[in-house]
Amino acid sequence: MNTLFSESNYNALYQWSLSNPEAFWDSQAKHFLHWIKPWTEVMHQDANRTHAKWFNGGKINVAYNCIDRHLEEHGDKVAIIWESDDSSETKKVTYKQLHEEVCKFSNVLKNKNVKKGDRVCIYMPLIVETAEAMLACARIGAVHSVVFGGFSAKSLSDRIQDAECKIVITANEGLRGGKIVPIKNIVDQALESCPGVNSVIVVKRTDSKTQMLDSRDVWYHDEITQVSNNCPVEEMHSSDPLFILYTSGSTGKPKGILHGSAGYLLHVCMTYKYVFDHQDDDIYWCTADLGWVTGHSYVLYGPLSNGATTLMFEGVPTYPDASRYWQIIDKYKVNTFYTAPTILRTLTAFGNEPVNKYSLKSLRLLGTVGEPIDVETWNWYFERIGKKRCPIIDTWWQTETGGVLISQLPDEVTDQCGTNAHPFLGIEPSLVDDNENLTTERSGNLVIKQPWPGQMLTIYGDQKRFEETYFTSCDKGGYYYPSDRALIAEDGTVRVTGRADDTLNVSGHLFGATEIESALIQHIDVAEAAVVGFPHPVKGQGIYAFVAMNQNAQSSEDLHNELRQVVRDQISAVAKPDVIHCATELPKTRSGKIMRRILRKIANNDFSDFGDTSTLVNPSIVNDLIESCENNQS
Ligand code: ATP
Ligand code: MG
Repeated sequence: MNTLFSESNYNALYQWSLSNPEAFWDSQAKHFLHWIKPWTEVMHQDANRTHAKWFNGGKINVAYNCIDRHLEEHGDKVAIIWESDDSSETKKVTYKQLHEEVCKFSNVLKNKNVKKGDRVCIYMPLIVETAEAMLACARIGAVHSVVFGGFSAKSLSDRIQDAECKIVITANEGLRGGKIVPIKNIVDQALESCPGVNSVIVVKRTDSKTQMLDSRDVWYHDEITQVSNNCPVEEMHSSDPLFILYTSGSTGKPKGILHGSAGYLLHVCMTYKYVFDHQDDDIYWCTADLGWVTGHSYVLYGPLSNGATTLMFEGVPTYPDASRYWQIIDKYKVNTFYTAPTILRTLTAFGNEPVNKYSLKSLRLLGTVGEPIDVETWNWYFERIGKKRCPIIDTWWQTETGGVLISQLPDEVTDQCGTNAHPFLGIEPSLVDDNENLTTERSGNLVIKQPWPGQMLTIYGDQKRFEETYFTSCDKGGYYYPSDRALIAEDGTVRVTGRADDTLNVSGHLFGATEIESALIQHIDVAEAAVVGFPHPVKGQGIYAFVAMNQNAQSSEDLHNELRQVVRDQISAVAKPDVIHCATELPKTRSGKIMRRILRKIANNDFSDFGDTSTLVNPSIVNDLIESCENNQS
């Protein structure tokens, strides 16, 4: 197999990308994308280096790059494979069919008076029409703001108002894990506080009776009968916005990240090709929902801009049982599989039996994203799913970065978690200390020295927050500051260890929360762990460990002692938790991340104001934790 990103190719390309970025990006943009008009300037940066404009003067259309340009040679190739929640329904959509459907959707939007630059909210289950709606926006130059279909009416309405959307695309109902999600009802509630929205387009997902508001709501299947299947693409400037997407809210109020057209597309197109080692006949499956950035970049725009076949699964990994993912991999002969540690941890809890029923022999490459992966989960993924033959790419990136910035190379099988990750082409990582000075220490706060094409444009409507949040004042400003900590080895390989505010300083010893959590998870009774600091009169910071137990496990003095012993054995006696708080569940965002800022407040006995908790899957867990504080602590 011909892998573009083998070590020697990578080294040569990487050197070129840093030594002559202008020539490098110029050549990549010509190679990877179709342009309506070429650019006059590769990159333009403002004086304080917080703003980089890519491919100035150029014109492009993202939907054209994802669909139209593949039609001549690959019109009959399957672009999207879709599997329904209960597997009773599947769809295969070719590039030709996708083109027709997206043109029709574009014309429906135009009939609703949606114009270039207008914001369109998409609140949908994971169905093919969701992808078509996004591509239709891109085709006509509207800016989509996809809100994950599991969010509450309040969260939806906040996002609609913040992005000033004038129209909502939704479905009557969604299906997830055998349950009905009343999507349209939630939209109705949300719109009570969104006077700016005057149209709702409703896709019929189920046959249930649906309340429609005559003056506002239309059925998508009625509207498409009135439009043609031809729609010319809108010519977009390189930096015209493509979408707004809200971050998961792990660390505070969600931010409306605004991404542009050409730079973003180039980054996801290149990373999909290089990092995911795209081969023409691949069946590729990224399990993310289109409502998260991983869905935008690596379910939709990255694969389709490469003319790939991308699989979308409407349901959840545990329905009808915990073998569902493995069954889908065998059913469609998936070659590349990309998922999140939180999902893998959920599945490991079911043991190996659900996996053993399936061969998984089509798999060639595995990926993970979303948070640091612990050793135990990584080993399981490597041995049980990849059968020790598939490399695992642990991809570090953020909503803000557009696409992958750090990951392993796809042709290297390393049998050790967390090693050998390289910066992507053009990405120059470095470390700063807590005073924002560049440091040559091997551990510190990550910064990225040079801008890259997929970098966000701004926070929608809040340029000040954008500049304050993401740029350090070190070295005259301009370094991108992701708020994550990392280790950079002498050979330049990088390991992101956790968020900047997850570091604990215990009696002068620094520990990452993740390393302590990784140790705790290895205990057989522990499903998940989250470690935070609290003020300690002697040590400076004490260690407070929240532990979600496996079913049938009980909190006991013995268990607490065993957990402390695991940490002592694996890390150090200094890292032993002062407090162990056993719980049935931890508070998680809807993208599966533990919301540590809440745990930090609980650990600090501060139960006053938990800030924005609207992105939590189950907000009642917070009260359970507060109530169990006294009973469970030791
Ligand atoms: P918010 O910014 O609102 O707190 P969020 O940071 O959870 O939300 P995302 O942009 O989805 O929203 O997540 C990016 C973050 O996830 C990264 O900054 C990092 O902390 C973590 N992350 C993602 N992938 C990895 C990975 N492979 N290894 C370690 N951490 C990762
Ligand atoms: Mg973040």
